[in-house]
Amino acid sequence: MPLYIVSTPIGNMEDLSPRAASTLKNADLVAAEDTRHSRHVMDKVGGTARVTSYHEHNEREKASSLLQDLREGKKVAVVSDAGTPGIADPAYRIVHAAVAENITVIPIPGPCALIAALTASGLPTDRFAFEGFLPPKSGKRQRKFSSLLNDDRTIIFYESPHRILRSLEDLQTVYGDIHIVIARELTKMHETFYRAPVSQVIQTLTKETPRGEFVLLFNLKAAGVYKEKEEPEDNDDAE
Ligand code: SAM
Repeated sequence: MPLYIVSTPIGNMEDLSPRAASTLKNADLVAAEDTRHSRHVMDKVGGTARVTSYHEHNEREKASSLLQDLREGKKVAVVSDAGTPGIADPAYRIVHAAVAENITVIPIPGPCALIAALTASGLPTDRFAFEGFLPPKSGKRQRKFSSLLNDDRTIIFYESPHRILRSLEDLQTVYGDIHIVIARELTKMHETFYRAPVSQVIQTLTKETPRGEFVLLFNLKAAGVYKEKEEPEDNDDAE
């Protein structure tokens, strides 16, 4: 039986697609990051399958037991707490193992915070790079930002509410007062887009006390700080 990678809402339950609902309803086993949270989604779709935990701390062992379930012919669905499994969430190990055994893997596409943020950001969408979460320490964060100076794609990070302000200060230290976009609480009641110079966003968030979930986006070329990588001299004409 195939392995299903099922996207679930990042806030608004109306974003659960009918296909995601029927896949979860018909699954024999659901592997979820937080079993209580996913039980709630299962109740909503009328699913009765067992929900088993699959998270970053047991991903390795759990992947092999899920593989055994797949070999026995069970329909296994993987979900994360929110959004698309495998995107800053577990799923990679089980997908990799299933592919290695020629087990069919079927994605059920749906909500994903980085795609929602990017498409409404107003930044170029033709080429982009998702960089996951920023490092927790300031020094490493600044080095991460510096390492991107030669990148002309739209860059996307996930960030937590307790680190967002310090991360923006580091961003300003490295790039100056560039235009950035912050997408906050996507699909939820307090969904907000901040599209402004970083100093202004810091000011606004400081006043409001940052709460909720955040996506940070910027494009260094559009902001005018992108540095073209120096290529080694072309010696084709050398005698
Ligand atoms: N798998 C998820 C996805 O497809 O987007 C991401 C999971 S990751 C553990 C959680 C992070 O995603 C949050 O810290 C935040 O940066 C971002 N995120 C998730 N939901 C969000 C939302 N509703 N609004 C803004 N950012 C969100």
